[in-house]
Amino acid sequence: MKMEIKVMNKEILKDICVLYVEDENDVREFTAKLLDSLLKKVYVAQDGLEGLKIFEENKNNIDLIISDINMPKMDGLSMCEAIRKINNEIPLVITSAHSDTNFLRRSIEIGVTTYAMKPIDLYQLMESIIKAMEPIILKKKLVELNLSLESKIEQEISKIKSILDAQDNIIIVTNKEEITNVNKKFLDFFGINNFNDFIKSKRNIFDFFKEDFGFISKEQISKQESWIKYIKELHEIDRIVKIKDAFDEEKIFAINVDYYENKEDYYVFSLTDITKLKEKSNLFEYQASHDKLTGLFNRNKFDEVYTKEIKRSKRYNNELSMIIFDIDDFKLVNDNYGHQIGDEVLKEIAKIILNKVREQDINVRWGGEEFLILLPETNLTGAATVASKIRMAIKEHLFSNKDLKITASFGVSQLLSEDNETTFISRSDTLLYEAKKAGKDKVIS
Ligand code: GH3
Ligand code: MG
Ligand code: MG
Repeated sequence: MKMEIKVMNKEILKDICVLYVEDENDVREFTAKLLDSLLKKVYVAQDGLEGLKIFEENKNNIDLIISDINMPKMDGLSMCEAIRKINNEIPLVITSAHSDTNFLRRSIEIGVTTYAMKPIDLYQLMESIIKAMEPIILKKKLVELNLSLESKIEQEISKIKSILDAQDNIIIVTNKEEITNVNKKFLDFFGINNFNDFIKSKRNIFDFFKEDFGFISKEQISKQESWIKYIKELHEIDRIVKIKDAFDEEKIFAINVDYYENKEDYYVFSLTDITKLKEKSNLFEYQASHDKLTGLFNRNKFDEVYTKEIKRSKRYNNELSMIIFDIDDFKLVNDNYGHQIGDEVLKEIAKIILNKVREQDINVRWGGEEFLILLPETNLTGAATVASKIRMAIKEHLFSNKDLKITASFGVSQLLSEDNETTFISRSDTLLYEAKKAGKDKVIS
């Protein structure tokens, strides 16, 4: 321990600049030489007046004063008094053979730091210098350390900020229910100039949420005790919001919430724009369930909803009916007018269907030129009426090729309590076959 102090002490000495004032030539020369070998720099003066002058000229350089008391022109204590007025912190070390009370009282008033008795014991003088300098050096070191810490923290903060700003996501940092930070992407998205403007408007993030089915809504969230916890605890698939940007365009975001504990609770909300992804998945969903040519549901979709509709109808005792129809002599249309015209006819017929059915009816392209319509909450008479309307509309329709006359044959049936998926369809199909056999362009139910 003692060794360590000695090493540190030596280090201290090497950094110190001293003003040494002594009128006795022999003492001054001898002591100055020794001080010079141990310290960084020694300014030497022969009396108080010279000492004061040197101090005034080098006041930023001198760390400590060593001075004799009895000297011509200006004594050591008067010089110290003058120096104290310029710098009230600089350590003052007095060398003296005196120890009378008068001298002591005055030196206390001036604020002399310590004494080294004459004749000077150099080791004792060094100890006095170290003792006087230690607090000052410690203070200086502390200030330096503080400054370097502050600048390090500042660097770290600006690093974190730039990382946040570089993110393509909207980032919101909250402490409890308060938003403490947002990134540049957030401000840009909402067209807000700076964080203060956002805070001044005292808006909650959920004020921006747009009401829509399947998305987190402002109304729902504002009822919660903690909106942060509410969002955090939602299942990933439900953590989806719709937000309008600065240009009033609706964007869809997936929210991810991370929790950090650092004296207080911090939550980092990261909002990823999934608008394009959602559009694409909607498109995929559409393609997987719709017929490309007519835009009606395909058989995949029919299979998906058919069983559900039968179950629903049986459970609630609702009526459910089915129309199957097939274009008459469609092969001839292709043969006489070409496949492309055949396609046009199929598209036109899909439009006719959509014109004649209700919103809840399920319209399917069942096969090449066969269509199926499932009509919930509709009995046989109702379904037969719809079929007749479609039959007439097809028959009377003016196709782009004016010579074209199209008719179709229909089978219509209603779900019976003993029916299953297969029997219901095959009964409708049989009726369609009967309509064909009976001369086509007919509805049989
Ligand atoms: P029927 O009155 O007995 O129903 O006679 P049909 O000629 O309509 O019956 P058939 O089943 O013999 O012929 C159906 C034709 O429909 C054959 C096929 O080339 C045509 N077809 C099926 N799908 C398409 C399609 O997507 N586009 C076109 N242009 N024709 C198709
Ligand atoms: Mg056919
Ligand atoms: Mg046909």
